[in-house]
Formats: sequence, C-alpha cells, structure tokens
Amino acid sequence: MDLKAFYRDIILDHYRRPRNAKSLPDATSEARCKNPACGDRVTLQLKLSGDRIEDVGLQGVGCAISQASASMMTEAVKGASVDSARAKLREFRRMVVEGAETPDSDVLGELLTLQGVSKLHARVKCAMCGWSALDAALERRTEEVDLDLDSSMPEAGAGGNV
Ligand code: ZN
Repeated sequence: MDLKAFYRDIILDHYRRPRNAKSLPDATSEARCKNPACGDRVTLQLKLSGDRIEDVGLQGVGCAISQASASMMTEAVKGASVDSARAKLREFRRMVVEGAETPDSDVLGELLTLQGVSKLHARVKCAMCGWSALDAALERRTEEVDLDLDSSMPEAGAGGNV
C-alpha cells in the first residue's frame, strides 16, 4: 500500500468513526465553527481542569477532511496541557495554512496525514474548522463562541497569510 492510500484510509477512518464524538454535560467551554463555503460545522466542547484539557466532546457534520481533522485534533489534545494544545494548533496551522514543508512530526503525529491539504486551497478552511473552534474554546474559556470561517480567515492562496 502506498503512503497516499495509507493516509487516505486513516482520514476516512476518522471521518466514519469520529473520536470523542459525544456531548459533555460538564463542559467548561464550547465553540462552534462553520465553514459555509463547504457546509462544514463543528461544535467543540472542552472540560478544562486547571491547565489541563481533561475531556473533549465533538459534534460535527461536513466533508471528510473537516471531520477527520477535527476528530484527530480531539485525540491530539485530550489529556494535554493548554500550552501543548496551543503548540499543536500552531504547528498544524503552519503545516496546512502556511504550507510548511517540514512540519514537526513529533508534535503532529497522525495529523501529518493532512499535510496534502495545504496544496488544496479550497480545503484549507475545512481542515481548520475544528482547530478554529479549539482556538476559540481555549481563548474564551467560559463563553460560547460562534465562528464563521468566511469572515475570520484570510482567503487561502490570496497572500497576506498571518
Ligand atoms: Zn469541507
């Protein structure tokens, strides 16, 4: 099996069986992200305890890339410290949005399977949907946040990436 097929299988497995797909009754923060360009929606709940992400709940609909990326994200940050989750967010954004050629595989692990998305400009927002929700949920820990990627993210490939 070649690497691309292997990566595709991992992505499809997350899409079909999203991890941490549950609602958290004792969530401490919640953020919803929508990507109208594709119809993706992600609701992310976090249970934060001190500086640690104790539990994560994910609910979403949308394309395989958006849902697989969100599912892998929940596995990557569950049980992690807030700082470590932010480091993963930064590195994932660097890989997918900025197209970094050599992302840190120690930080990203299975998320490396999504590296090819950086070349598919229309899908960058799909891959970022769950992560944008994570960013918002970590930033404003007690609020519910609604994000619309069409207005909160620069157009991929249009230059001026932050
Ligand atoms: Zn999508």
